[in-house]
Amino acid sequence: MMLCAWGDASSLTPYMSARNQSLSPIDRASEIRADAAKLSLLWQSAQILPVIDGHIGANDGQLRFLTAENVEFLSASFESGERYFLGLARDGAQPYFAWRTSWINEPSDEAVKFESFRTLREVGGDLHEVDLTLAMHAVGLCNWHATHPRCSRCGAETMSDLGGSVRVCVADSSQHHPRTDPAIIVLVKDGADRILLGHQSIWPEKRFSTFAGFVEPGESFEECVSREVFEEAGVYCNDINYLRSQAWPFPASVMIAFEAITDHPDTAKADGVEITEIQWFSRQEMKAAIAKAELLLPPMISVARTMITGWYTAKAGHSVEDLIGGEAWRS
Ligand SMILES: [Zn+2]
Repeated sequence: MMLCAWGDASSLTPYMSARNQSLSPIDRASEIRADAAKLSLLWQSAQILPVIDGHIGANDGQLRFLTAENVEFLSASFESGERYFLGLARDGAQPYFAWRTSWINEPSDEAVKFESFRTLREVGGDLHEVDLTLAMHAVGLCNWHATHPRCSRCGAETMSDLGGSVRVCVADSSQHHPRTDPAIIVLVKDGADRILLGHQSIWPEKRFSTFAGFVEPGESFEECVSREVFEEAGVYCNDINYLRSQAWPFPASVMIAFEAITDHPDTAKADGVEITEIQWFSRQEMKAAIAKAELLLPPMISVARTMITGWYTAKAGHSVEDLIGGEAWRS
């Protein structure tokens, strides 16, 4: 199944970047989650990211945080909501929380007016690394809490516990953990070092991207890559290599990125359902198509874009400046 997703990446560093192998800029400090008194104390000095009906606020590449005092002050405009501990900054131990809530009525405070909140899809491309990391965690966690108000075993209510890292059933005390759905994303190449991209009918006209899909039960990532590429593009891959992974909380995925080589480029054919058009590109063809506005690449923030850029610039004389467009997620 094709995802309406690009996967992220936030930098144009091709392939296995240093960032990909480094620690998250936020220490999740999971050892604190069971200490309710400590969490209450940390809340008082926390940068609190309000996630209001799934929306967040951002300005000039930075998230809009609230203080505990702000949250208190806004209590007439918002439901009391739930607090989720996101972790500590690695430099200085600043605590971060998400506050999942809903509007009761529009507050007069400019900072939390309806129109200043948007989805992570809309603002994610502008966020710098630390804020993107926090937003990915907060939105993914809030998405899960919002959709798991009841126990999947007995149907009773569940309550957030351990700083928001689990929900616990009030009737049978069973613990329910946030789920993350793995999805592969793959850059398909042929022996001549061309790449194969596909177009989904729901995407903007002329936008092409890599292939992606959810991993099914009992399936390895590599098997999923083979299946998805064959289902959507009609080609078998014979060489599959892992590149990197990426949190993708829309609503709850992690994208596992691969490149794959096929010896049968001529069999490529769109499935006509999810993928309505496919096309092989050499570097020259890609450059020309972009220059003539006949090709729109996936957004800068996507891992799809990172893979395409990595391939394009791997050969001397091919500059990232050739790959214009795709600054916004939806354009
Ligand atoms: Zn239960």
